[in-house]
Amino acid sequence: MRIAVVPGDGIGKEIVPATLPALTLLDDAFGLGITYDVLDWGADRWLADGTGLPDGVLDRLRTEYRAVLLGALGDPRIPDMAHGREILLGLRTGLDLYVNHRPLDLAHGTVDLYRENTQGLYSQVGGAVTGRGRVSVALDECVYTRDTVERFVRTCLRRLRTAGRRKVTLVHKANAVPHTGRLWQEVFRAELAHVPELTGSEEYVDAFCYHLVRDASAYEGVLAPNLFGDIISDIGAALMGGLGLARSASFCPESGFALFEPVHGSAPDIAGRGIANPYATAMCLSMLLDHLGHTEAAVLLRDCVLETTHTDAATPDLGGAGTTDGFMSEVTALLTERLKGERPRPKENRP
Ligand code: ATP
Repeated sequence: MRIAVVPGDGIGKEIVPATLPALTLLDDAFGLGITYDVLDWGADRWLADGTGLPDGVLDRLRTEYRAVLLGALGDPRIPDMAHGREILLGLRTGLDLYVNHRPLDLAHGTVDLYRENTQGLYSQVGGAVTGRGRVSVALDECVYTRDTVERFVRTCLRRLRTAGRRKVTLVHKANAVPHTGRLWQEVFRAELAHVPELTGSEEYVDAFCYHLVRDASAYEGVLAPNLFGDIISDIGAALMGGLGLARSASFCPESGFALFEPVHGSAPDIAGRGIANPYATAMCLSMLLDHLGHTEAAVLLRDCVLETTHTDAATPDLGGAGTTDGFMSEVTALLTERLKGERPRPKENRP
């Protein structure tokens, strides 16, 4: 079981290496047989030799690896994020990772947010008329095919049913963006008819954002087109307590290949200071272990990460004075004790 580890840029280069000792510890303790390769994709490589996603790498990932753990992409030296687009959109579309699960872990429980990950306004269809150094006309097309919406909605409804969810909400803007809006509504209603365990509702994205902030406990499962899902997940991160807490997994159900990454970016404002919160990335690692079928190791890691947020090791974004490395050292120490049967688990251990 081989995974590709891409620290990327900014705080990704601090957070990802800090989480790897926990993976090694769990791998040894449970005999998981996971190996990983650290890959240097990111701004430094792009600026050095123009490489974003190296040639032929998608085939290698498909055949030799099961998953990718990605830190963050973004660098002030590349203001248009050209390298980030090539790497991230290249992985998402090249490996057909069309489902993006962004769980919102809130005080009342988790809202399962699912974002379509390959089309919509991220289709890269469009163009611009430029002249005299400026853009005068700009066009970004929102493209959705019925196949894409169908497979996404079907997969998400199945997963929500398996997770014991009872309610699912489609987020759209069919009143102002009628064509793709109607496609989503048609598909949602048709697919929902096959899943009687779920009660469906539909909301305009603006009203949904308002209601989510006022009372997120009204929601269990949420399905969103690409751009809406991206924006909602940042609102969700704010409700959770900050971007350092939001985890995400993108996957292709047919191939089983998956990409795990925190929702946050490279955070240039705090990069290099060793204070970024590794919580989201460590939780991504837990999701990755779960995805590979190592549920016990995944739950243990998740519990230890959660518990560490309530200690002095918590990072400044959570009101603590801890550091990235210090937080993960505490997680690893706690894992070691738990594996030896020392230090009992607290009764209440929630996000
Ligand atoms: P990018 O262009 O790479 O997306 P950004 O700064 O625009 O970077 P984020 O990286 O998501 O966007 O950061 C938004 C804000 O959240 C910043 O103030 C950043 O410091 C904070 N932040 C993001 N991730 C973390 C983290 N893991 N720990 C602490 N603060 C974080």
